[in-house]
Amino acid sequence: MSLATLTADFLWQEGSWHAGGPALAITGGRFAPAPAVVGERIGRFVLPGMPNLHSHAFQRAMAGLAERRGPGEDSFWTWRETMYAFAEAIDPDDLKAIATQLYVEMVKAGYTQVCEFHYLHHGPRGVHYAEPAAMSLALIEAAKEAGIGLTLLPVLYMTGGFDGRPLTERQQRFRHDVGQYVALLERLAPMQNDMLRLGIALHSLRAVPEEAMRTLLASGVCRELPIHIHIAEQIGEVQDCLAVRGARPVEWLLDHADVDSRWTLIHATHLTPQETDRLAKSGAVAGLCPTTEANLGDGLFPLAAFIDAGGTLGIGSDSHISVSPVEELRWLEYGQRLITRHRNVAARRPEESVGTTLWQRALQGGALAAATDIARLGEGARADLLVLDDRSPLLAARDEADVIDTFLFAGNTPLVRDVMVGGQWRVRDFAHVAERSAAEAYRVVVERLAAA
Ligand SMILES: [Zn+2]
Repeated sequence: MSLATLTADFLWQEGSWHAGGPALAITGGRFAPAPAVVGERIGRFVLPGMPNLHSHAFQRAMAGLAERRGPGEDSFWTWRETMYAFAEAIDPDDLKAIATQLYVEMVKAGYTQVCEFHYLHHGPRGVHYAEPAAMSLALIEAAKEAGIGLTLLPVLYMTGGFDGRPLTERQQRFRHDVGQYVALLERLAPMQNDMLRLGIALHSLRAVPEEAMRTLLASGVCRELPIHIHIAEQIGEVQDCLAVRGARPVEWLLDHADVDSRWTLIHATHLTPQETDRLAKSGAVAGLCPTTEANLGDGLFPLAAFIDAGGTLGIGSDSHISVSPVEELRWLEYGQRLITRHRNVAARRPEESVGTTLWQRALQGGALAAATDIARLGEGARADLLVLDDRSPLLAARDEADVIDTFLFAGNTPLVRDVMVGGQWRVRDFAHVAERSAAEAYRVVVERLAAA
């Protein structure tokens, strides 16, 4: 394994900037002990890559197609019908093309790992492909081509509501029983490596009966894996859970599963103060997707109370209405400002920077959700990093105290110039090595889907 040594004026390490040209050594795709020699200077400000803890890749191709008002009142549930119709025609080759384009965009934006919450498993009407893992394998190929780390989360999806109603015809493509689902995990588990991790996803409490959840969580293959679940995105979902299970979704989950740092609760949007406190103390990650939550009219997460209670959070781009950690973190803060009519909400102490706080929290929570050693520029971690564009006028006269705030709040042009994932440069001078081929394949697929 060859050893590369790199240096920068400022490296983001353990939540603060380290100045004076410290060096990073990379071997076998990971950071090695810091060398005494001076390395190649790669830029002024170098950050760890950001994990994206929630993605439904195929939805990238329908971004912008659900922004026209329908006959009644539009909501998450009317959006979901558009999404189901769109998903209808997608096959494994299409998924690979869409996901490759998406993942290239992610890397360019500064995400170096993606947790793919993958439920589009089968062919139309639920007919299994000859290779039952065909859709999962398409996502794995896409991640390889784009050079992004993948935490693949095959989703268990069984019922259409808390009352246990069967899935509709369109939803049959998502369906597994617990035995089939465990077989899929067992098929994929041996493929894991530095760039590919496996995890479990329960689609939601409404889609997984209690008994199935218990059986799955007790099975051997699940013991070590991270667990993700959609939890409380919609008020309707909270009301249905209360009616059938006698508790709110987060409350119910905390009472019926050993929720700890292996768990990521996606869209923990609707929380009582008590749920907020209990979730924070459980060690689970709150998976927040602010641009999607805004686009779908979901509601706002109680950010300040959750941080004050010691909670862990990360960000995801979910429906991919936006593919940018900058925009997720900006809107996470702006939502809070709009609702509280105060500024600098995520910063909980005087003099604390909002950008710095949010970037660091999202790194830590994202790495936990992705269950892999990333998101830090330190010995042993996978060698993922972002170099900010120090030639940009936006960063003129910015020192280390305000560079992340400027990056998150002032940029309308990309400031991520170079991106390394697993010790390999994937983006140099804003260009991704696979961006042309990915865009061409994507265009062909989307044009065909649009004409169908
Ligand atoms: Zn989702």
